[in-house]
Amino acid sequence: MLEQIRTTYPLVYRHFSAIDRGEEHLRSILSIDRYWEQLSLPVPDVLRAGTRMTSGNEISGSYDIIYAGGTLGILHAAVMAKRYGFRVLVIDKGEPARSTRDWNISRSELHRLADTGVFTKDELEACIVRSYRTGWVEFHAPEERRKRLYIDDVLDCAVDADKLLGIAKKRLLETEGSKVMGRTAFTACYRFADHVVVEAAGSDGIPLRFRAKLLVDAMGIVSPVAMQLNGGRPQTHVCPTVGTIASGFEDADYDVGEILASTEPAELSGRGGRQLIWEGFPARGEEYITYLFFYDSVDSPNDKSLLGLFETYFRKLPEYKKPGTGFTIHRPVYGIIPAYFHDGIGCTRVIADDRILLLGDAASLGSPLTFCGFGSIVRNIDRLTTRLAALLDQDALGRESLAGVSAFEHNVASMANLMKYMCYDARTDEPNFVNEMMNEVMIVLDDLPQRYRQAMFRDEMTIDELVTVMLRVAWRYPKILAATWTKLGFAGSTGFLKNMAGWAMAGSSKK
Ligand SMILES: Cc1cc2nc3c(=O)[nH]c(=O)nc-3n(C[C@H](O)[C@H](O)[C@H](O)COP(=O)(O)OP(=O)(O)OC[C@H]3O[C@@H](n4cnc5c(N)ncnc54)[C@H](O)[C@@H]3O)c2cc1C
Repeated sequence: MLEQIRTTYPLVYRHFSAIDRGEEHLRSILSIDRYWEQLSLPVPDVLRAGTRMTSGNEISGSYDIIYAGGTLGILHAAVMAKRYGFRVLVIDKGEPARSTRDWNISRSELHRLADTGVFTKDELEACIVRSYRTGWVEFHAPEERRKRLYIDDVLDCAVDADKLLGIAKKRLLETEGSKVMGRTAFTACYRFADHVVVEAAGSDGIPLRFRAKLLVDAMGIVSPVAMQLNGGRPQTHVCPTVGTIASGFEDADYDVGEILASTEPAELSGRGGRQLIWEGFPARGEEYITYLFFYDSVDSPNDKSLLGLFETYFRKLPEYKKPGTGFTIHRPVYGIIPAYFHDGIGCTRVIADDRILLLGDAASLGSPLTFCGFGSIVRNIDRLTTRLAALLDQDALGRESLAGVSAFEHNVASMANLMKYMCYDARTDEPNFVNEMMNEVMIVLDDLPQRYRQAMFRDEMTIDELVTVMLRVAWRYPKILAATWTKLGFAGSTGFLKNMAGWAMAGSSKK
């Protein structure tokens, strides 16, 4: 497979040839990139009426819940098994409890997982491979106007995702009647009045069938279930992200996290343009994680493939962090971070159907602004599991009841609109538009108490905090008003207002 990209993606070829399991990672990247083809194919038909199930295959096991997808799925499943005693089956087409990325989060947020009873505080502490003194955000602007905004207690702990998920898997397997199966891909779900039958394919291709009361879809952005339930358009915006865990940089500061950093104006191409943004996070020992990403609408003409972005990453990396003579890549990290614009006062995305519940990136309810899909589940794990346990006990597993088991947060939905300003549009924007605007936001945040910036980057903003920031930015940088029209348009602007109205009506200042 690597040989096939030797001339088309020469830098990816060179670096991946030297990485452990490089070929396997390339395969995984290409399978995520298939997302773009899927958008133009007929809507998948994986949720089927029970009457369509052919006879023949036996049921290999019965459970309360089947999870398709073993990353955030296994975290949720462990709580349902350990805390509530449900029998769960987790299937994953790859290796369950292994992530293609690592996570950053603040210590106080991570510690909330101890309330689930699945982890002790000591175990959570042991998953933190490094914590930083502080972090900063900085956008490319003339030096005399450039504001580097320092933020404490935000994304300042690097978490070993596999270790955390490994503990969840262990706890799950300690409970009676629960099981985890790798190399087992979800293929279809047949729905009956009082149960579902999930069909999967093992590595030998032999179809398997399992019975349960409920299917939880945790297959991430590539989920065919999410694609079907959302009419073939499961996301409105995306944030393709690639990077590496490497060692041997000459200029990495191991005490400080670089939360967002841009080093140049938007990169223009024949197809449009992208405002590339970096992140840099120290990790275990000498390891340092660098990410390159951009925000975009799903429908833009830009190349949004991870493969193409990896080629750009390797080309531009030395402009961000200098690889020294001992530079070594330990592992690539990658994925498409999903985003969804809710055109209404509440959640307008389909995240549930009869006996089906979507979770994690499949539900696409996290904020793309700061990569916080893991943070979103940590914040919401209590209600996501308590409510579901109650519904399972009552066997109230219809679409409407399940829709209430969601990580939707009014503040996150409103804040996600800000991401639209960060999607560079070559037709309307000056090449440095995103940087200049974000630089002004940083100046405004710098004038406000720390809690504003912390709330913004931890998805915890209250409505009055967001309004304060928006008014101050508009006062300092009136261009943003015109940009609102060009970037959001009539539908987007009224949608933003609807989101804000929903947030205000929800009563609670945060959710
Ligand atoms: C590079 C990167 C860095 C990030 N950093 C952070 C961070 O610092 N902090 C934070 O809060 N968030 C972060 N995020 C976001 C976070 O990683 C995601 O929100 C989270 O991983 C979503 O988990 P998920 O289980 O929903 O989906 P995924 O992680 O995509 O996992 C989906 C799982 O489903 C499996 N699967 C797919 N198809 C099938 C099938 N047909 N059958 C069975 N299994 C299937 C896959 O093998 C995979 O294991 C980052 C994201 C990226 C891309």
